[in-house]
Amino acid sequence: MTEANTRAASHCHDDHDPDSMTLHQARQRMLESVNPVTGHERLGLRAALHRVLAEPVLAPIAVPGHDNAAMDGYALRGADLPGQGSVRLELMGTAWAGKPYTGSVGPGECVRIMTGAMVPEDCDTVIMQEKVTRESDQIIIPAGPRAGENIRRAGEDVQQGQTVLDTGAAITPARLGLLASLGLVEVTVRRRPRVAFFSTGDELTPLGQPLPPGGIYDSNRHTLFGMLTALGMDVLDMGVIPDARESLTAAFEDASTCADVVISTGGVSVGEADYIRDILGQVGQVDFWKVAIKPGRPLAFGRVGEAVFVGLPGNPVSAVVTFYQLVQPMLQRMMGIAEPGLPPLFPAICQSTLKKRPGRTEFQRGVLERDEAGQMQVRATPSQSSGVLSSMSEANCFIVLEMEQNQVAPGETVQVQPFWGVLP
Ligand code: AMP
Ligand code: MG
Repeated sequence: MTEANTRAASHCHDDHDPDSMTLHQARQRMLESVNPVTGHERLGLRAALHRVLAEPVLAPIAVPGHDNAAMDGYALRGADLPGQGSVRLELMGTAWAGKPYTGSVGPGECVRIMTGAMVPEDCDTVIMQEKVTRESDQIIIPAGPRAGENIRRAGEDVQQGQTVLDTGAAITPARLGLLASLGLVEVTVRRRPRVAFFSTGDELTPLGQPLPPGGIYDSNRHTLFGMLTALGMDVLDMGVIPDARESLTAAFEDASTCADVVISTGGVSVGEADYIRDILGQVGQVDFWKVAIKPGRPLAFGRVGEAVFVGLPGNPVSAVVTFYQLVQPMLQRMMGIAEPGLPPLFPAICQSTLKKRPGRTEFQRGVLERDEAGQMQVRATPSQSSGVLSSMSEANCFIVLEMEQNQVAPGETVQVQPFWGVLP
């Protein structure tokens, strides 16, 4: 009996394959097989976008550096505010953002102040301009406003000397701004992991060439380029490698000498042109090669020399799903991200019938929306075939169906995982 027949005979009720790792086991195994890359560099702030800090950042200054007005209005002494009725104060001058008022402010006096301007030394309160009546050089304040209002305190955002970001923090756009608010011009970040990748398949035609009979354009290399770049990897595109042992062996060896990670797509299943697992066993070590997920069961993981090797499946949706669910956390760890992770799951009402058999974790493509009552609703994209890449581009989430789950009827609650970061 062939391998496929044996499987069909002994497991006709579900998709369970005793040789497969569960999704969780595979993810753990991949995470545990790698370490953060060594090597730091000091980069100008903007060049550090999407990099990961190699050392903590301490605040050289407080932010804000001085008490300042949160509103346009009038700065005064809280003690002058009326308990009832109203009070009339004399206007002494103006405090602008970046141009402080340097005079004194006595009892019964006030200063016109703009948002962001330093609060004059004698004042402890800012009253919104909408709450007062102005009469030439005097203002009339009714009872109501309280002492201490509308002031942003020095150090309210960041205190001097405080650890603002720890080692392992990824530099997001908001953090870029936070670092700039501290006046920092450079930061120390980890080197980017270097990832070499190639597609395999005699049918694959590079862009710019006419399609021969039976040929298809190579889409995986572009999806992979996009996901790797969005993650901030240093990418090395090795092109299309034909289904031939010698060329594949050479590609494995070349890639592993110059990269931390080698990723291929295609050639990992049990067809007669599927050489990846064999070659991995010859030039390196196979750790595992089957994961109980759909799409994406065949996935080869191991090492070649110093490099980690991942052989992703060839079907375009399978390649994206396995990258997102398994490779992404591993790469985050190599980048030095303190807590690698994926978006959290949350419940939604399913509007579609979902076919599913126990034995594999499934990632169906879904479109998530909030209905008028505020309830999250998800529908499956029309095709769930692992070859239909348009389903991936149309979706905005995965519908995650756990191992033992059976088919889902409309109206049932399912778990969804929104796309973020590298998807869609
Ligand atoms: P394989 O795993 O090599 O048997 O490929 C499975 C399916 O995915 C086949 O239909 C291939 O033609 C297709 N495929 C493999 N690699 C790519 C690629 N780079 N771009 C688009 N389709 C691919
Ligand atoms: Mg192939």
